[in-house]
Amino acid sequence: MPQKPNLSSGVGYLAIPGPSVMPEAVLNAMHRPAPNIYAGELPEMMPGIVADLKRVARTDGEVALYIANGHGVWEAALSNVIGPGDKVLVPSTGHFGQGWAGIARGLGAEAQVIDFGKAAGMDMAQIADALMADTAHQIKAVLAVHVDTSSSVRNDIAALRATLDDVGHPALLMADCIASLGCDVFEMDAWGVDVMVTACQKGLMVPPGMGFVFFNDKAAEMRAAMPRVSEYWDWTRRANPQDFYQYWDGTAPTHHVYGLRTALDMIHAEGIEAVWARHATLARAIWAACDAWATKGSLRVNIADPGQRSHAVTALRLEAPQATALRDWTAQQVGLTLGIGLGMAAPGDPAWHGFFRLGHMGHVNGHMIMGLLGGIEAGFKALGIAHGGGALSAAAEVIGGA
Ligand SMILES: *Cc1c(COP(=O)(O)O)cnc(C)c1O
Repeated sequence: MPQKPNLSSGVGYLAIPGPSVMPEAVLNAMHRPAPNIYAGELPEMMPGIVADLKRVARTDGEVALYIANGHGVWEAALSNVIGPGDKVLVPSTGHFGQGWAGIARGLGAEAQVIDFGKAAGMDMAQIADALMADTAHQIKAVLAVHVDTSSSVRNDIAALRATLDDVGHPALLMADCIASLGCDVFEMDAWGVDVMVTACQKGLMVPPGMGFVFFNDKAAEMRAAMPRVSEYWDWTRRANPQDFYQYWDGTAPTHHVYGLRTALDMIHAEGIEAVWARHATLARAIWAACDAWATKGSLRVNIADPGQRSHAVTALRLEAPQATALRDWTAQQVGLTLGIGLGMAAPGDPAWHGFFRLGHMGHVNGHMIMGLLGGIEAGFKALGIAHGGGALSAAAEVIGGA
């Protein structure tokens, strides 16, 4: 029998949950000689970028810009409002909640973690109990991950605000929207979020390297009451610069700024609400396919309740070691790179090979999602992995019926 041809040449799809697929227009905008950082186009672009970032976050508050990834803005945000000996409450629904708590501890804070596991959203009653037990109001901030990219749970941030208000607790509400911004519906001001952190390499479609901290007046007051804040992390001047170098506290990430300008143009040309609707429909197509596959064999969506699932990322379970075998096959044979099962089991543990994730954040459309699902189904067939039928047709119905 002739050898089977390899089918991976062509445009690949990096379907990992960040960095996401970068639009050609963004990459092309970055391909240029170094711009002047003292005068001209680059400094002149900044006020528009700041305004357009706030439009994505749905806030009239302030935004500080950093050359940093998500971990960097975790620290930047906390550094402005949390110091040694302070206390924070972390309702954790996966790897990233634990990660933010770790950054807080590194800054000398006490992090009280409520661990809700890796397969469901926050339970507001338990959070209310923890807040009510804090009669002296020692908890200065609640650190909430909107979409935990490891479990793919989407938490109800508006309900968390209501929980704080109901028990009359004054803690700041800080949200990590690194995975969700520009994918899942997020309304900073309407939901009463005091501080929001995000980074540029997921829904914002720019190569990794910039992070953003949004904050409101209440958070600015807490910053003003801090005995000291690292000059580099201080958000005050970055959000109110008198000069271009103050936006980034030093040399700007020149080429990234051009990429971001183009990405924001694309988001606002489509319209943020249309961007949310696109992600919602594409996510439903993925879930419809997964439901069909799950009628036979071991594939399961990690988050059982569709109301708690992110529209940016989907974590899946598939009997070990099949998840790893599937990822290897799709990458090598059809040019489709699926995400690892981050934080669900320790690397080295055989269970590690029983999880994978689909990134569907940012620059993704209907045919890419159909290709993603088709590539997975081809892998099931090649590897003899048991699965129910009708998945592609179920997904096509969602996309066709949208
Ligand atoms: C990606 C991600 C992070 C970490 O961002 P890095 O840029 O990798 O440091 C933190 N939180 C969430 C929810 C994420 O998705």
